[in-house]
Amino acid sequence: MLVARDVSKSYGRQTVLSHFDLTVDEGEVVCLIGPSGSGKSTFLRCVNHLEPIDSGEVSVAGHLVGYRRTGARLRELSPREIAAQRSDIGMVFQGFNLFPHLRVLDNLTLAPRKVRGVDAATAETRARAALERVGLAGKAAAYPRRLSGGEQQRVGIARALMMEPRLMLFDEPTSALDPERVGEVLDVLRDLAAGGMTMLVVTHEMEFARAVSHRVAFLDGGSVVECGPPGQIFDSPAEERTRSFLRRLG
Ligand code: ADP
Ligand code: MG
Repeated sequence: MLVARDVSKSYGRQTVLSHFDLTVDEGEVVCLIGPSGSGKSTFLRCVNHLEPIDSGEVSVAGHLVGYRRTGARLRELSPREIAAQRSDIGMVFQGFNLFPHLRVLDNLTLAPRKVRGVDAATAETRARAALERVGLAGKAAAYPRRLSGGEQQRVGIARALMMEPRLMLFDEPTSALDPERVGEVLDVLRDLAAGGMTMLVVTHEMEFARAVSHRVAFLDGGSVVECGPPGQIFDSPAEERTRSFLRRLG
């Protein structure tokens, strides 16, 4: 579902991703862990067309997101191709990014109606089903400010699901939450994983990563240092950098 090969990306003189390789198979949950500044968010942004890559190759569901071979020009995708690819990808950030002036239901139906031309009744039916899926069936008429952080994040997830993505990207979805609200959001991620959703999750929740992911990738200095089943990465990491990162977490 996702293939990244030898990806490089710099901001000015600072190399943020280099020789970055990662695959995520259909139905697989991969957690991305690593120190702050190691390039986790940048990679997700590259996958979702929010940032161009400098070289290498990224494809989602067999469609090229971006590539450049030495000496060859980066192929520019048309805005239409980019829109089509992005609608295959759902992204949930640390912040909740809901439209504050819209009720929960309208937050969910906006993009399907405007981008996909879904009629209002169908969009509403789908929105109610998505809210049910994240345990918020009763909140359709509420404004975001009336919801807890955990509820807002679950609305954010429901909103991403409205576009029927084939790949979900999560960037520290629980980092902005009060500790007592983290569990309810992780439970939603667990349910999605159990339902077969393909997911790439940047997280500091190591217990979650261990319990839910098929593979864990440890990222440091802009590349994947090692990647494997959670038991292998957490219990017998091959690389010293992974060991010292995990040791620092305690
Ligand atoms: P992580 O998510 O692993 O904490 P990031 O991908 O956010 O790491 O950042 C990796 C590095 O890239 C950091 O050194 C950060 O300062 C830098 N960086 C990220 N975004 C930008 C940007 N838009 N412009 C310049 N530097 C950036
Ligand atoms: Mg980040």
